[in-house]
Amino acid sequence: MNYQEIAQIYKETLGLRWDPVAVRMMRPGEKVPPDTVEPPQPLRHCQSILVARRGNSLYLPPRSHACPDGAGILGLVEMSPKLRSGELYLLFKKLPTLEIAQKMISTRQEFAPGSYEATLVAPLAKAQFEPDVVVFTLYPEQAMWVCCAQTYQSGERQNFRTSGFNSTCADLVVQPMKTGEMNITFGCYGARASSEINDFELYLSIPTPLLEPIAQSLLKLGQKSIPEERRKIYLQPVMDKIGNRRSSPKTGESGQVRIYIDQQQCKGDGLCVAFCPSSVLQVAEKDGRQVAQAIKPELCSMCYTCVGQCPQKAIQIS
Ligand code: SF4
Ligand code: SF4
Repeated sequence: MNYQEIAQIYKETLGLRWDPVAVRMMRPGEKVPPDTVEPPQPLRHCQSILVARRGNSLYLPPRSHACPDGAGILGLVEMSPKLRSGELYLLFKKLPTLEIAQKMISTRQEFAPGSYEATLVAPLAKAQFEPDVVVFTLYPEQAMWVCCAQTYQSGERQNFRTSGFNSTCADLVVQPMKTGEMNITFGCYGARASSEINDFELYLSIPTPLLEPIAQSLLKLGQKSIPEERRKIYLQPVMDKIGNRRSSPKTGESGQVRIYIDQQQCKGDGLCVAFCPSSVLQVAEKDGRQVAQAIKPELCSMCYTCVGQCPQKAIQIS
């Protein structure tokens, strides 16, 4: 599978608004790839990602990096003493003491100065270089499906390490390159104050070796789970004015569930039986036909799974 195909899978299954952005740290001695331009003015690393998600392929040597913090963290330049000491974080009133600022600095991931010569960013589908990581601009729901796709292969939960400081440099590039694991960030002061990232967007970065396996899992999830979730198939019918739970005046008992199955619509395929987590339903003969029946309605938790999974829309719960 090539990067164009992979990018297409992510775009289609997740419904991405923005192109995934390939990021490569240029090693010493590497040549600038074709169709990659140095921007006319310096950009912050976070800004360069947003320019790339609009379709541009960029080459950014140290002179084209506007954020000295980001350039230092990415190992392009030696970081200035004022940034290294943490005193600027106090001036901006982003952290309360020098001690806490130094702790934040010492716990973030960085590359050693001089490790790399430039950054390359480009839409994944157009990238003329081998990315180290691919950065996605996502809504939380899309990020959830990327997480599900990774768990789909491994069963494991994700370990994200993020802080709201140095988001697109430390958290999106250095951290995943060093650990080999995907990482998430909600942006940082600099990234949000200097770019068009929307308030409801976040970033997720995937190391290149994980890119195709996660895409394969997304294809599987896109067959059923993703469209069902987006159709909100378990949404209860009346949510605007729910009132109180009703109880019987005689017994004081409350919460009796009624399950209505339209026997004419029911095809007896047993899907509701298979999906019901509480074994409430059963397919059995009635009037010469195999149809679903509620044999233990008292066990029903009103999860609406049977309602959402019935292809005939034959079930109602009240
Ligand atoms: S899923 Fe629907 S059609 Fe299938 S057995 Fe249940 S009620 Fe009948
Ligand atoms: S609502 Fe949930 S618990 Fe109740 S019958 Fe349907 S699947 Fe089973």
